[in-house]
Amino acid sequence: MELSIFQDRELAQKILQGIRREAKKIGREVKLMHVCGTHEDTVTRSGIRSLLPENVKVMSGPGCPVCITPAEDIAAMMEIMRKAREEGEEIILTTFGDMYKIPTAVGSFADLKSEGFDVRIVYSIYDSYKIALKEKDKLVVHFSPGFETTTAPAAGILREAIEKGIDNFKIYSVHRLTPPAVEALIKQGTVFDGLIDPGHVSTIIGVKGWEYITKEYGVPQVVAGFEPVDFLMGIFMLLRMIRKGEVKIENQYTRVVKYEGNVEAQKAIESLFDIVDAKWRALGVIPKSGLELKEEYKDYEVRTFYKVKPPELPELEKGCICGAVLRGLALPTQCPLFGKKCTPRNPVGPCMVSYEGTCQIFYKYGALF
Ligand code: SF4
Repeated sequence: MELSIFQDRELAQKILQGIRREAKKIGREVKLMHVCGTHEDTVTRSGIRSLLPENVKVMSGPGCPVCITPAEDIAAMMEIMRKAREEGEEIILTTFGDMYKIPTAVGSFADLKSEGFDVRIVYSIYDSYKIALKEKDKLVVHFSPGFETTTAPAAGILREAIEKGIDNFKIYSVHRLTPPAVEALIKQGTVFDGLIDPGHVSTIIGVKGWEYITKEYGVPQVVAGFEPVDFLMGIFMLLRMIRKGEVKIENQYTRVVKYEGNVEAQKAIESLFDIVDAKWRALGVIPKSGLELKEEYKDYEVRTFYKVKPPELPELEKGCICGAVLRGLALPTQCPLFGKKCTPRNPVGPCMVSYEGTCQIFYKYGALF
């Protein structure tokens, strides 16, 4: 299918007309939530909020895995690097470019690098694994964040490492699951009329993975893709459901997402990881939202070998409202530090560091609303 269809101006205009029609018929404020940094990029880059009727609001939830990684885990990994050095072992730490810069009260991985530790930026866990294959006499640890989309390739690489007995490659797992976070937001009191589900997460978990949110909490949902037309169509489909009083889940992204998802990827993840309660930065502990390597694979988790007590740290700097942004309760422009004390060059909070962070996206595209 031609991708340009999904960027087509005329088609977008027609969908917008449909959105305006549905919004008028609903006749009250409608709050829609998405939980995806890539969706936020589409929304802000395309100016979608400015095109919507007054009574349709789009909020951004916890869609950035790097932003929600607890500061304690970053600090614990830094501690592991120091402890290893004290014990005579130099670890090669790999992680993604945005994670490298995430600030905590005790510094960042970038600071660790400036202290002389071997910290390397990689594009994927595969790059990290390749370093381990090359530098066999060193321990390579991948600080591994990510939602289902990133966990699937991580599981594939770990499986290969296990089968080949590559014992100098380990991870620090900070993988998280998306639907439990949505559930937690609902329980914590974030109110929204409909949810736009991330297309890439849904590629792994399928429409099926989201169904319980609709069944148990009565939230209409649409799985949507990442082009402007995809997202607009997702809004239209949700408004149509809301207007008709329908509570169901629909799939706009049928060209990629199947009802059952990627079953092979699901099996790969399930075979290696246990689901555990896990902390999300600024959101607290969310039941059954984290992934931890199973007991039999614990040799591939660096914390098995280096026991450090994660320090208790303030989650956010004073004045940073990342928690409210991640809960869909505020937009970055409501933060008094946005664009002043806090910029991508000098980020105060995690939402301004990551490419998937709502604050950075707003800053990058000059969103003013
Ligand atoms: Fe935090 Fe900066 Fe975003 Fe404000 S603009 S919420 S300080 S990351």
